[in-house]
Amino acid sequence: MPHVVVVGGGLTGLTVAFRLKQFAPDAAVTVLEPRDRPGGNIVTEEHHGFRVECGPNGFLDRTPTIPNLVRDLGLSDRLVAASDGSRKNRYVFLGNKLRKLPGGPFGLLATSLLSLRGKWDLVSEPWRKTPPPSAEESVQEFVTRRAGKEAADIFADALVTGIHGGDPAMLSVAAAFPRLPVMEREAGSVVRGFMRASKKRKQEAKDRGDPLPGPMKMWSFRDGLGELVGAFTEQLSDSVRCGVAVESVSEAASVAAWTVQGQRGYTWSADAVVLACPAYEQAGILADLDAPLADEIGAIPYNRIAVVALGYREAHCPGRHDGFGYIAPQNTRRDVLGVQWCSSIFPDRAPRGYVLWRALCGGVHRAEQVEWDDDRLGKAVHEEIKLAMGVTGEPVFRRIVRWPNAIPQYVIGHLDRVARIDALAAKHRGLFLTGNAYRGVAMSDCVDQAEVTAAKVALHLQKAR
Ligand SMILES: Cc1cc2nc3c(=O)[nH]c(=O)nc-3n(C[C@H](O)[C@H](O)[C@H](O)COP(=O)(O)OP(=O)(O)OC[C@H]3O[C@@H](n4cnc5c(N)ncnc54)[C@H](O)[C@@H]3O)c2cc1C
Repeated sequence: MPHVVVVGGGLTGLTVAFRLKQFAPDAAVTVLEPRDRPGGNIVTEEHHGFRVECGPNGFLDRTPTIPNLVRDLGLSDRLVAASDGSRKNRYVFLGNKLRKLPGGPFGLLATSLLSLRGKWDLVSEPWRKTPPPSAEESVQEFVTRRAGKEAADIFADALVTGIHGGDPAMLSVAAAFPRLPVMEREAGSVVRGFMRASKKRKQEAKDRGDPLPGPMKMWSFRDGLGELVGAFTEQLSDSVRCGVAVESVSEAASVAAWTVQGQRGYTWSADAVVLACPAYEQAGILADLDAPLADEIGAIPYNRIAVVALGYREAHCPGRHDGFGYIAPQNTRRDVLGVQWCSSIFPDRAPRGYVLWRALCGGVHRAEQVEWDDDRLGKAVHEEIKLAMGVTGEPVFRRIVRWPNAIPQYVIGHLDRVARIDALAAKHRGLFLTGNAYRGVAMSDCVDQAEVTAAKVALHLQKAR
């Protein structure tokens, strides 16, 4: 019976293992995970009725892959969609004020976030003829070229702060938002590209006889994202081994080609090895096998993030907070990157009469915040929330989680680096590299990549027979 070892029990590793059981049913799969629980940075905690997401807060149904995975794990009836308010009401904190992000073309015309010139630059995007430069563009450069500097300073920064906790001037647009340059290339404009994509999605649904798809939505589960990890654990049962950190892998010229070396001298033989742990860990594991490959992988940078969840009495929170929350763009260098109004995004996140909000702090420009002690961080976030939301009381609940290596940053040169990594890794038959370091950081990207990896591993096992 062929054996596959998956290194890392985060969303990517668990999805690879789950899909391998279907794509290669005769293979044995072992997932090795150093922590005492699988799930990677998906962690849901319950504290006195506050349901805190310590890592991701929800996932987007950008492609059918993640909804299909949820269905196959038997979790479809546990899904909860983000509230209508959270889809419509998103804010940025600028000039010491919360300002609503425009929701559509009319909102764009009415918004006070842009000057008349800024609005013109943005709405005239479909007719702008500015050919892309020959050198790779950052997100900031791309949005400035297509939609003007004001749109880049506000919207590109908000987008990159919200998804990557990164700097739009450092991130590669082709790596971090690959659809944007493709839309420009194929439709001559990003706006036209989005319109075409939406029309195509509707036509495809019509051809399949499916109901017309609505706009993209954010989802979680009734008891939080931890339910996803719970379902994987149930389905994969004793294939998942916790408390095992892999230290190295070595390749032999024999049939079961791989030896996986764990701590305390444990070893596993495998026909294929999938590295689904963070890039800096993959680099360490591959250092003896292939130093140039390890160096390339180890050069992928990560940011640092602290998640600060605070609970307040509703009576101390004046005004309406029926929305997603707000971003404080990185270029403002505030003490929070943004605040998500968790209890208005999903139901049952706080006890009746209370709200649960969580701030993300740190990122590339304020990395030092992750070193702050809990009191300093908690106070700084409370002060920010007081200023933005006018809360009148102290928090009644606090939970702080630090991610010293939080989100990989797809800086300029990332795609070339990934191409070099692919070429070097291809020399090692039966070695597969995956995870959020390569082709997308969102949960939906991780699932997309994991499914492709599982299919490649199954094909490899078939060929090796
Ligand atoms: C604070 C935060 C908020 C986020 N918010 C969102 C969000 O709202 N929506 C969204 O879509 N995405 C969000 N993301 C991104 C998303 O959560 C991640 O990209 C995704 O979960 C990564 O999954 P992964 O399996 O690739 O990696 P990880 O979750 O990092 O899992 C890798 C696993 O490898 C294990 N490992 C490490 N070293 C070894 C070793 N030596 N041997 C074996 N195993 C090892 C780790 O313990 C870990 O379990 C967020 C991320 C963070 C940090």
